[in-house]
Amino acid sequence: MTDTRPDGVPTRIRHHIAGAPVDSVSGATFEVIDPVTNRPYASAAAGGPDDIDNAVAAARTAFTEGPWPEMPARERARVLYRIADAVQERGADLAHLESFDTGLPITQARGQAARAAENFRFFGDLIVGMNEDAYRVPGTQLNYVVRKPVGVAGLITPWNTPFMLESWKLAPALAAGCTIVLKPAEFTPLSASLWPGILADAGVPDGVFNLVNGIGEEAGAALVAHRDVPLISFTGETTTGRTIMRDAAPHLKGLSMELGGKSPVIVFADADLDACLDSALFGVFSLNGERCTAGSRILVERSVYEEFAQRYAERARNVAVGPPQDPATEVGALVHPDHYERVLDYVETGKREGRLLAGGGRPEHLSEGNYLAPTVFADVPRDARIFQEEIFGPVVALTPFDTEEEAIELANDVDYGLAGYVWTSDLRRGHRVGQSIEAGMVWLNSHNIRDLRTPFGGVKNSGVGHEGGTRSIDFYTNEHIVHVATGDVHVTRFGVRTEE
Ligand code: NAD
Repeated sequence: MTDTRPDGVPTRIRHHIAGAPVDSVSGATFEVIDPVTNRPYASAAAGGPDDIDNAVAAARTAFTEGPWPEMPARERARVLYRIADAVQERGADLAHLESFDTGLPITQARGQAARAAENFRFFGDLIVGMNEDAYRVPGTQLNYVVRKPVGVAGLITPWNTPFMLESWKLAPALAAGCTIVLKPAEFTPLSASLWPGILADAGVPDGVFNLVNGIGEEAGAALVAHRDVPLISFTGETTTGRTIMRDAAPHLKGLSMELGGKSPVIVFADADLDACLDSALFGVFSLNGERCTAGSRILVERSVYEEFAQRYAERARNVAVGPPQDPATEVGALVHPDHYERVLDYVETGKREGRLLAGGGRPEHLSEGNYLAPTVFADVPRDARIFQEEIFGPVVALTPFDTEEEAIELANDVDYGLAGYVWTSDLRRGHRVGQSIEAGMVWLNSHNIRDLRTPFGGVKNSGVGHEGGTRSIDFYTNEHIVHVATGDVHVTRFGVRTEE
C-alpha cells in the first residue's frame, strides 16, 4: 500500500480499490504535512470522480455478488473481533503514526487507538444480539421485518482523531453487511492507509472496503453525488454538512451528520470547583482542543466567577505544551498550518473581545510547529465571535452569569447544539438546567464519558441524526417488511378482506 520510512511513516499513500493499492486515474497527488515541522512527509493520491467511480463499482460488485452482506451475523462478527484484536495489538504503532500525522499527544492517541478496537468489538457483539421483528395478525397474517444492509456506504471523515472516528463508522457499517467507500480528511490520510491491511488480514473480502483519498470538493463531492451510494455518514464542519445535504438531495440519500459545536459548561457557585476546574480544563484542552464536544464556553455564576477564572487560568498556564511524541505532552501541535493560522486569527480577535488571562500565542520554548499555548479569555460577551464560532483549538471563553435563567439563555444563544456540561451540587437544578440546554448530549458533574450503547449526536447546527449503539445499525440497514397470509385471504372487488 505504501512506501515506508524506517520509522514506519509512509512516504506514499495510495487509494485502495477492489483489494489493491492504486494511484489516481489522473495521476494527481497532494502533499501531506507533518504538523511539527510543517514540511511534507508524504505524497498522497488525489482522487476525483473517476477514482470514486472505480471504488463505488468495486463496492457495488462486492455487495451484489457477496459473500459479505449475506454472511451470517456471527461470521461477520468474528471478522470484526479479529479487526479489534489487530488494532489492539498494533495500538502502540497506530498511536505513533496518528500522533505523527495529527499532532495529537501520544498518550491521548493511545487512548483513541484503544477506543477504535473497542468499537469493532462492540458492533460485533451488537449485530449478533440484534433481533428482527415479527407481528401476527391472528389467523390471517404474519408480518415480519428483516434488516438488510443498505448497500454501498459512503463514509466521509474529518482530521481530528481520524483513526478512531473512521472506526466509529467502519465498525457498524461492516457489522450491518454494507460495503464501503471511505474518503478520509486530506490533512490526515496516514492512519486510514492502515485499514486495508488490517481489514484484509482479518478476513474482510476484497472490494468490501475501498479507500479514496483526496480533496473534499473533488473526491468527497463525487462520492456524495454518486447514484450507487445510497447513504453518506459524514463527520466534519457544519458548512461542509450543508453542502453535502444539498449535493445528496437529488438522490434523497440517507444522511448522518455529526457536525461542529460550541458547547457550554455551566458552573454554579455550589459546584465541586476542584473537580469542575479539572474537567473543564480537560474538556477544552485535551485532543489539542480539536474536539467536537469541547466545552469551549465556560459560564460561571458571578459569586465565584473571578476565583474560578484565576484558578482556571493558573491551571491552563501549567498545561504541558510540547512535541506530540513526548509522553509528558498534554497539548501537542495543531494539525496543519492553515488551521493553526485560523486559530491564531481567533486568538487575535479574542484579545479585542475579551480579557486575556492565559496563553494568547506560541509558547516561548517552541519556535516552530503549530503550537499554541492554552488560551483563556474572560469577560467574553455573548455577541463576540469567540463566543459564537467554533474555534477548534485550545482556546476557551469565560462569561459570568447571575441567575439560572440567564445561564440557560447564554448556553442556548448559539447556533450549535452538540454537548453541554452542568456543574452543581443541587441535583434538582442540575437535571432542570440539563434538560433546558439545547444540545444532543448533556453531562452533569461529569465529562465526555459515554457507554458505547448510548446514542451520540447533536441538534441545531451540530448535526442531523444520531449514531451510536443500535442507532448506527439502524442507519446502515433498511427495514424490509414482508406481509404473509397465514389463513384464507379473500380479495374483493374493492380491496382485501381477511378471514381466518
Ligand atoms: P471538514 O468539513 O473540513 O472536512 C471533513 C471531511 O469532509 C473531509 O474528509 C473533507 O475532505 C470532506 N469534504 C470537504 N468538503 C466536501 C464536499 N464538498 N463534499 C464532500 N466532502 C467534503 O471538517 P474538518 O475540518 O476535517 O473537521 C473538523 C470539524 O469536524 C469540526 O467542525 C468538528 O466540530 C467536526 N467534528 C464533529 C464531530 C461530531 O461528532 N459532531 C466529531 C469530530 C469532528
